[in-house]
Amino acid sequence: MENTDFIAPNDVATVCNQIDRLGEKAHLLAGGTDLMVAINLRRLRPEKLIYLGQCGLDRIEVANQSLVIGATATLKSIIQSEAVKRNAPLLVDACQSIGSPAIRNAATLGGNVCNASPSADGAIALLALDTNVTIVSTRGERSVALKAFFTGPGKTVLEKDELVKEFIIPAATANSKFGWAKIGQRKAEIIGIVCVAVNMTVEGGKCQNVRIALGAVAPTPILATKAAALLEGKVLDAQLIAQAAQTAADEISPIDDIRASAWYRKQMTNELVARILSGE
Ligand SMILES: Cc1cc2nc3c(=O)[nH]c(=O)nc-3n(C[C@H](O)[C@H](O)[C@H](O)COP(=O)(O)OP(=O)(O)OC[C@H]3O[C@@H](n4cnc5c(N)ncnc54)[C@H](O)[C@@H]3O)c2cc1C
Repeated sequence: MENTDFIAPNDVATVCNQIDRLGEKAHLLAGGTDLMVAINLRRLRPEKLIYLGQCGLDRIEVANQSLVIGATATLKSIIQSEAVKRNAPLLVDACQSIGSPAIRNAATLGGNVCNASPSADGAIALLALDTNVTIVSTRGERSVALKAFFTGPGKTVLEKDELVKEFIIPAATANSKFGWAKIGQRKAEIIGIVCVAVNMTVEGGKCQNVRIALGAVAPTPILATKAAALLEGKVLDAQLIAQAAQTAADEISPIDDIRASAWYRKQMTNELVARILSGE
């Protein structure tokens, strides 16, 4: 860190100008709970850190039946927000499972998504919620579906001169049903071995718009599209739940790593999907 400059712009336009000018030399800093670990371990030596916490990207509001969450909204502010509790309670559950109170105080939703970890809890919930990401640069704004945002572990579609501005999440309705489950080596302050987020609407007892997002079982957070398709338009019963849970497990090709074996991840995917669909 000895030779790293630090700036804290007061607006997004200045951030965009800086990253456009500096390219690879600059690095964006939000809560720093991922980035500072990388810097401390000397995996990263940025010439300039551009702090995002003062450029006004922390809004949380409802507009046009969508919940809009700014990239620098902290996990704590999301958990405490009445707008998020009403319109995306699944995200509240996921954010609550991240780290510890100290981490959630500093960590932002934008950082969780842009770090692009396969086990990023916030990102997994946002994927189940059919979120769109607004990206900004000196060239203007563009919108990308979150399902197309991740390109590999630690990799996204963001160009060097772009940053994430906000997340647009379709607001929950009276018919929305959701569930969140995460299994780790212990209950708190732990990266997930398997994380599952399910979101759907239920009309006349039938499942619709089903999205099952899985984390830590692939190079990026992914959607179990075959399992979701199986449920579409159907009434849940024990047999269908078992079939969908097995299909989700069959859709993934996880790896063995220090946290768990591929075999265990498949078993737990089956188990957690079944538990959520059963309402346990
Ligand atoms: C002890 C500990 C426990 C943790 N537990 C969990 C856990 O249980 N679950 C979990 O998912 N994560 C966990 N994490 C990881 C981390 O806390 C989260 O990923 C957090 O949300 C990152 O947000 P941040 O604001 O701190 O990001 P930062 O560290 O500031 O940034 C992360 C990356 O995203 C980039 N970035 C940030 N904002 C933007 C933006 N708006 N546009 C473009 N790029 C941007 C940065 O340049 C950097 O590359 C843990 C971390 C620690 C240290």
